[in-house]
Amino acid sequence: MSISPYINRNVQELVAYQPGKPISETARELGLNPAQIVKLASNENSLGPSPMAVQAMLDAASGMHIYPDGASFELRSKIAARHGVAFNQTAVGNGSSELIELLCHACLRPGLELVAAQYSFAMYSLMCKLFDATYVEVPNKADWSHDLQGMLAAITPQTRLVFITNPTNPLGTMVGQAEMDAFMAAVPEHVIVAFDEAYIEFAGEKTDCLKYVREGRNVVALRTFSKAYGLAGARVGYAVTTPEIADLLNKARSPFNVNLMAQVAACAALEDAEHLARSVEMVKAGREQFYEALLTWGIPYIPSHGNFIMVKVGQGKAVYEEMLARGVILRPMGGYGLPEYVRITVGNKEENKRCLAALQEVLNK
Ligand SMILES: *Cc1c(COP(=O)(O)O)cnc(C)c1O
Repeated sequence: MSISPYINRNVQELVAYQPGKPISETARELGLNPAQIVKLASNENSLGPSPMAVQAMLDAASGMHIYPDGASFELRSKIAARHGVAFNQTAVGNGSSELIELLCHACLRPGLELVAAQYSFAMYSLMCKLFDATYVEVPNKADWSHDLQGMLAAITPQTRLVFITNPTNPLGTMVGQAEMDAFMAAVPEHVIVAFDEAYIEFAGEKTDCLKYVREGRNVVALRTFSKAYGLAGARVGYAVTTPEIADLLNKARSPFNVNLMAQVAACAALEDAEHLARSVEMVKAGREQFYEALLTWGIPYIPSHGNFIMVKVGQGKAVYEEMLARGVILRPMGGYGLPEYVRITVGNKEENKRCLAALQEVLNK
């Protein structure tokens, strides 16, 4: 007998997060050599982790029989110092995805609402579904950026969380400081505003959401080590917020949510400013490399503040598959309601070149 009638309906109906296709799986299915496959599907960092982070993980390996520091004291202290906030204003997670989940855990229940922009990171709607809350999606402006005034108008007495993804994934657009300030001046007190800044290091424009935290507003800044720091495999992200919200996140998490290797890797990565700068430089140069080719071919794209570009190829799914057959893994966007697009992660110069050569073939350019 199936146990189904006794199971939480929201979990049963959940459509699990669909990650980029792994290299190993692609190699197996297509009979290709994994070394020849280029993965530009998950916004990973082609430079890899900082050598200092790698050394820290090697050094930690022989101590893996001991539980990590459950409070992540060193890492949170470094994060607090970096952003000029108190230790008790920080929380760390198994990727910032976990912090998104914890925020939803703390805020949502049936009948309550989460507001986000159209075409947002899939985790927001997934978590909303998990907690049986209502997901309110606000259409973007004509330039594909968040419509913050529209998001403001979508707030009701039932709204608990608003996500502002800056720069946003998968579109790559961002909102500027003036728009953020106007939004924050009008947002009602009962709402927590989460600024998901997974790609902020790559942004062409400087914005500051931490000033709202310093003013004591109910704001959460979310950052991750998965993108610019090249530590996606370690799973570590953090939140900077008010002591009250940080305490909620720390209460809701599991006791050792960030493992020992992730903690030491993230600590070391924070010290390696040079590696971070090289990552950002690689992405900025890579974006130009893509733009130049796409402009020449007359293929439309959305100018990006992230380490990825949305390219309007027509039949997204077909182009994704033809690229896959050529050993280049991209991300089809049909699942996000943008079937004409593929999202291409900006890799290193060689990877970008290979991707562009394959794309030129596939698009007959
Ligand atoms: C990648 C990403 C994250 C964080 O991912 P983690 O690996 O869980 O830290 C968060 N938000 C957005 C919008 C992302 O694209």
